[in-house]
Amino acid sequence: MKKIIFATGNQDKMREIREILSDMDVEVLSMKEAGITAEIVEDGTTFEENAMIKAKAICRLTNEIVLADDSGLEVDALNKEPGIYSARYMGEDTSYRIKNASLIERLEGVPDEKRTARFVCAVAAAFPDGSVQVVRETMEGRIAYGEAGSNGFGYDPIFFLPEYGCTSAELPREEKNRISHRGKALRAIKAYLQPAG
Ligand code: IMP
Repeated sequence: MKKIIFATGNQDKMREIREILSDMDVEVLSMKEAGITAEIVEDGTTFEENAMIKAKAICRLTNEIVLADDSGLEVDALNKEPGIYSARYMGEDTSYRIKNASLIERLEGVPDEKRTARFVCAVAAAFPDGSVQVVRETMEGRIAYGEAGSNGFGYDPIFFLPEYGCTSAELPREEKNRISHRGKALRAIKAYLQPAG
């Protein structure tokens, strides 16, 4: 059976990719399962670059097909901050309660129509022959006025989805996966993996 490594340490992401690739004859391994401990420096300037940097580096180390993602939140009224720095915004160890409160505070007085934001996810696939494919998908929404919901993680409690009338932290997991930036990007990259399956 062919192997694909997903360059993540996140169990939720592993579950999602396994569900999405479940109809393919491939074994999907996490970094840990593949025995990789290398720390890759993500010094790209876009989500796509960071995903490609990670996928290519692990592919060179393993000689297997490697998937990697990079994601974040873009707030239009804040010049698309925190963007690729979403995890590092206010410091990696700062709680999301504080990060979310900060974003809401920075949008004080900003009306509904200017509170637009999106989650972005780039997924790259690096192949042992040196080729790389990358896709980018988004989920559009608005920054809410307070936190709501306890599903999801990170900025989900302040990410309001107007067509659902709730935040992405209030959606059931399957529903979020169906419409999310990451769900859509993982399904899109699958087209490039089919020959391997
Ligand atoms: P990474 O791509 O796993 O490094 O994630 C980057 C950061 O973006 C996360 O730590 C979160 O702060 C944020 N982020 C990305 N996707 C989501 C999401 O679906 N919900 C909430 N926050 C997210």
